[in-house]
Amino acid sequence: MAVELAPPDIGHYSAGNTGIPFTFSFASPTPGPHLLITALIHGNEICGAVALDFLLRQNIRPTRGTLSLCFANTAAFARFDPSQPEASRFLGEDMNRLWDAGTLAAPADTPERLRAREIRPLIDSCDHLLDLHSMQCDTEPLALSGMQEKGLALASRLALPGLIVADPGHRAGARLRDYGAFADADDPRSAVLVECGPHWYQRTADTAIQVCLTFIDAFGMLEDEARQIRPPSPPPKRRIVEVTDVITVTADRFEFTQDYRGLDVIEQRGTVIGYDGGRPIITPYDSCVLILPSRGLSRGQTAVRLGRFRD
Ligand SMILES: [Zn+2]
Repeated sequence: MAVELAPPDIGHYSAGNTGIPFTFSFASPTPGPHLLITALIHGNEICGAVALDFLLRQNIRPTRGTLSLCFANTAAFARFDPSQPEASRFLGEDMNRLWDAGTLAAPADTPERLRAREIRPLIDSCDHLLDLHSMQCDTEPLALSGMQEKGLALASRLALPGLIVADPGHRAGARLRDYGAFADADDPRSAVLVECGPHWYQRTADTAIQVCLTFIDAFGMLEDEARQIRPPSPPPKRRIVEVTDVITVTADRFEFTQDYRGLDVIEQRGTVIGYDGGRPIITPYDSCVLILPSRGLSRGQTAVRLGRFRD
């Protein structure tokens, strides 16, 4: 995959304004919800850093409530090398598999665990979270809403992206999107993860900016001038995929039977789409949608999710 994007210089944001490095909060005198946008949970997914840099340079301020911005895995991002763009996803461990109280408290001190503990108070204080990511697949942007209706409701409030995937996360550990209150059906706080497009494409960063503005606007918190930055986008035809199966690698080797690109629809139930070692992976129903097929996998990682379009 080509690397079109240059990583923005974020060094001058290191002090932040919250007491936590690389984080900002802007409060309006008018009460309202606390929105948080996180970027760089994966250090090489630089579209999110481009978007937060844009919001900061444009002095985007909420018309009510509070808007917070967080550059998460800045240590990994600092190692971004366009000749090895996959290498800086994380330094010690995947920062998007740590988000349960036990894992965060466990006696481990990888750079990701330390940073997660550092930003946790900000995450605990927000009402609604937008977590910006990009993906290996060259498919349309998609929102991962989790399995709760409130995640679906949040994703549906955004003008972008048009495709929402309701999925249960990964066996390897809890995502930020699924952390604490966000996964509690009785708690009003909600979160959405947006895959803004393929890693390192210019259009992915453009989408990330649009998604941020859309998120703030969805809560009536975007200033009029900022609304003009937002080019009018046609209302997407909203589609929802419900994930029914998460395929986790259990063998030493995982191979797909074809070069699936993501959002492939496999018409026939019983089609073999891959092999986990010797175990065939078979589609469980007709018109099965393959979500985010991944390459270069090791044991315990998610190979692909299987789902179906909701009518
Ligand atoms: Zn990611």
